[in-house]
Amino acid sequence: MNDCLFCKIIAGKLPSDRVYEDEQVVVFKDIHPKAPVHLLVVPRVHFASLNELAPEHDALMAHMLHLLPQLARQQGLDNGFRTIINTGPGGGQEVPHLHIHILGGGRLPGF
Ligand code: 5GP
Ligand code: ZN
Repeated sequence: MNDCLFCKIIAGKLPSDRVYEDEQVVVFKDIHPKAPVHLLVVPRVHFASLNELAPEHDALMAHMLHLLPQLARQQGLDNGFRTIINTGPGGGQEVPHLHIHILGGGRLPGF
C-alpha cells in the first residue's frame, strides 16, 4: 500500500541518520539541513498532516511535544530552538507524512 518516503525510512527500507527512536516516533537528521541542527520528529503511524489529525493521535502529539526540548538538549541547543510543522502544499509541506522540524545551533532568520 505504502509509497510514503518517511514510512520507508521508519521501516528501515531507506537509510537515515537516526538520533532517537521509541515505540511511537523516529527522529532523524534532515537530509538538507537548514541549520547546524535540523531534525525531523516523525511518528511511526502514518497520517499526512495536521489536516488529518484525529482524537486518536492526542497521546502521540503530546508525546512528540514533550520530546522536543529533550531532543534539543541532547543536540546541545541550550540557547533555544525552533519547531516547524508544515501543512499541505500551501504550507510548504514536501513529504505528506506528519513531522515536526527541530532547528537550531546558529542564527535563524526571522519571520
Ligand atoms: P516538509 O517540507 O515536508 O515539511 O519537510 C520535509 C523535509 O524532509 C525537508 O526538510 C527535506 O529536506 C527532508 N527530506 C526529504 N527527503 C529526505 C530523505 O530522504 N531523508 C531525510 N533524512 N530527509 C529528507
Ligand atoms: Zn508515511
